[in-house]
Amino acid sequence: AKENGKSDIVLFSSEMRSFALQKLQLENDLRRAIAGHEFVLHYQPQVEIESGKIIGMEALIRWNHPMKGSISPGDFIPYAEQSGLIVAISEWVLLEACQQNKAWQDAGLPKVPISVNLSSRQFLQHNLKNKVNEVLRHTGLAPQYLELEITEGMTMDVDHAIASLVELKQLGVQVSIDDFGTGYSSLSYLKKFPVDRLKIDRSFVRDIMDDPSDAAIVATIISITRHLNLKVIAEGVETEEQLSFLHRNQCHEVQGYWFSPPLNAEKMGTLLGRITCR
Ligand code: C2E
Ligand code: CA
Ligand code: CA
Ligand code: CA
Repeated sequence: AKENGKSDIVLFSSEMRSFALQKLQLENDLRRAIAGHEFVLHYQPQVEIESGKIIGMEALIRWNHPMKGSISPGDFIPYAEQSGLIVAISEWVLLEACQQNKAWQDAGLPKVPISVNLSSRQFLQHNLKNKVNEVLRHTGLAPQYLELEITEGMTMDVDHAIASLVELKQLGVQVSIDDFGTGYSSLSYLKKFPVDRLKIDRSFVRDIMDDPSDAAIVATIISITRHLNLKVIAEGVETEEQLSFLHRNQCHEVQGYWFSPPLNAEKMGTLLGRITCR
């Protein structure tokens, strides 16, 4: 029994060591990626159902790893958050997204807002307003063409959230709450947060046709936005049936594979040029 116990401990500690090593490796990789420009942004269009017009787009990061190929954000953002490297990565994302949107506008393409995901660390930074302002000034993008996405989790400290949101709104940028409905729901605070839009999480949209409670949740979120005068968009819309459910329930804007997956900058530019926007 004693021997077994001992080998358990050895096994455990060697697992721990290799886990720690993996983390260290990933951190080093991330540092190199930041310095070596291994990140790219893809862009997913947002569409108005009735007109088929593109009314916005979301910037989504991808990591072109020299050995491992394209890595999706779900596989490295958590480590970037833990190590603090997310701050540098997020600053790059914001700059790149604004620069790209301005370049499309300068090329004569229709002007639509670009949405950027804020990380929790970024949202906690006291100089966020200045950083955003600096990027807008540097790129020349008008503030109404930038939307910042936060998640419900970032609004747990209600006073901080309100103060930060007020500052961001002073710049003239748009703010949305992403993955709405998945977090610890702060329905009663919603009216105090100066946000423009809710994004209905795709986990609800996925099952609206099969699961009556998901259908009810989606219909309720849409109705709340109407009463609070907020815009609403549904994420992860993949099928015609989901689309018509949303339309019937007065949600007129969608994002998802039904219209288009995230595209690289070149393809997104082409799409923008082919479609008349608002
Ligand atoms: P998110 O903000 O909820 O982004 C939407 C995710 O849903 C994207 O995954 C997108 O590719 C995917 N998606 C879009 N339409 C559909 C659909 O119809 N069906 C399905 N099944 N999926 C769809 P992606 O690009 O892998 O991003 C995952 C998450 O990583 C994002 O979720 C966001 O939380 C985070 N993320 C992405 N880019 C950034 C970034 O630049 N900064 C930060 N802090 N987080 C980011
Ligand atoms: Ca998002
Ligand atoms: Ca989302
Ligand atoms: Ca999500």
